[in-house]
Amino acid sequence: MMAADTAHAAPAASENIKELSRLFALQKEAYAVAPFMSYDERIANLDRLIRLTEANEETFIKAISEDFGNRARQETLIAEIVVTVSGARHAKRHLKKWMRPRGVPTPMHMLPGRSRLEPQPLGVIGIISPWNYPLQLALAPAAAALAAGNRVLIKPSELTPRLSEALRTAIAAEFEESVCAVVTGGVETGQAFTETPFDHLLFTGSTAIGRRVAEAAAKNLTPVTLELGGKSPAIIDESADIDAAARSIAYGKMMNAGQTCVAPDYVLVPREKLDATADAIAGAARKMFPTIDTTSDYTSIISDRHFARLKSLVDEARDKGAKIVEVGSSNALYPQRKMPLTMVIDPPAELGLMNEEIFGPILPILPAQSAADAIEHINRGDRPLALYWYGEDSAARDKVLQNTVSGGVTVNDVLWHVAQENLPFGGVGKSGIGAYHGEAGFNTFSHLKPVFYQSRFAAGGILHPPYTEKTANVLSILRKFI
Ligand code: NAD
Repeated sequence: MMAADTAHAAPAASENIKELSRLFALQKEAYAVAPFMSYDERIANLDRLIRLTEANEETFIKAISEDFGNRARQETLIAEIVVTVSGARHAKRHLKKWMRPRGVPTPMHMLPGRSRLEPQPLGVIGIISPWNYPLQLALAPAAAALAAGNRVLIKPSELTPRLSEALRTAIAAEFEESVCAVVTGGVETGQAFTETPFDHLLFTGSTAIGRRVAEAAAKNLTPVTLELGGKSPAIIDESADIDAAARSIAYGKMMNAGQTCVAPDYVLVPREKLDATADAIAGAARKMFPTIDTTSDYTSIISDRHFARLKSLVDEARDKGAKIVEVGSSNALYPQRKMPLTMVIDPPAELGLMNEEIFGPILPILPAQSAADAIEHINRGDRPLALYWYGEDSAARDKVLQNTVSGGVTVNDVLWHVAQENLPFGGVGKSGIGAYHGEAGFNTFSHLKPVFYQSRFAAGGILHPPYTEKTANVLSILRKFI
């Protein structure tokens, strides 16, 4: 345990945990004194978050690239900087409306009283983020929590130590510690973090660790939002343009070298199109990365351990005689741990790559003759975080969408439902609990407090004891209205 904490982060775990306790106590105290943040304070906090993201852009790009070995500059710009800033700007634009009390209908027998939901901050929010999009997945939930008027503590991943430190410094320069701060550290600090009695905890990471987070949080009855992973299918229907689907899937799978929670994990396509699909995806991959071995546009695998895990999935498939199509060299000694796109055609069901989230540039391509076949395959597994469907046959599309349950869906493209601030983002079943982004994020980090305002014209006391015949008569009239 200790090794995980001390391997990357400078301070020992015990120092990180002490810092966590200090910051949590400070934020709790600040909340006790000033529990409601005004609209202006929230806007100022969102501005701070936008400013620090933009002002430190080059520092973040460099830190993430060094943490990965190589991270494509444009990927960091698009998926970390732009996504974070646009999410915070969206919150700024809509905050006034989100903060307003929301009127709800009052039943006739309670009139002329009125009822409404009054959003209020929860208090101190904990955010645990993973290494794969280390900036976005720390700051996007932080923006939602700050918009909702909370105080925020962030625990980023120990696998991106340079980015975590840069983020800690940038946040410390913009925010009062009592409003937003970063605690660095690894597993031991993460455990202490989940045992801290936050008012809400948002965890992004693997399903296995998510379960432990939920268990630890349950001891304090801390509510959790769990943003987890899973095996997200890409279905190429009979009616699809294979080349267009292939371009999209190659992009979604090779962005960040497949280390994306919503990357297509595997492809389902009619059997007679298996090879044509692999050829089309290979062609699209070569076009995007003509010099995949050397280009800085292609991102590295995060660590030797992760590289070895991916390589062993391919080795197992090769040993079992599966047909493999590689785009790029298979030399594991690639500088900076770059891994070729490796397609595995119709592999046997018992392989590791058919049973665990791949989270790298390996793409099984499996046969599914019809919408019914695809539905059956998907519903035999855990509920995926994302689902992609390609084709023009709307009846087949609707059948798949109605009969499968996934966190979200993009039709005829990949990834992009995640970039819509008006759509909640989250998983279902093993791929997650709860959601954020846009108003859904504001709601996640708010208590929508139900309040009933009684009217002075209400027939107060009419049902109070002593119970008489008059009470019985009123009650019998009331019962006609409920
Ligand atoms: P991980 O679960 O190993 O770690 C995530 C975070 O949890 C890190 O900060 C880590 O330090 C911390 N942690 C580790 N052990 C802990 C413990 N026992 N208690 C508390 N905290 C602990 O995940 P990862 O490898 O960093 O990320 C990859 C996984 O995350 C994939 O499964 C991917 O699908 C998922 N993911 C999901 C989303 C999403 O939005 N749904 C986004 C990105 C990644």
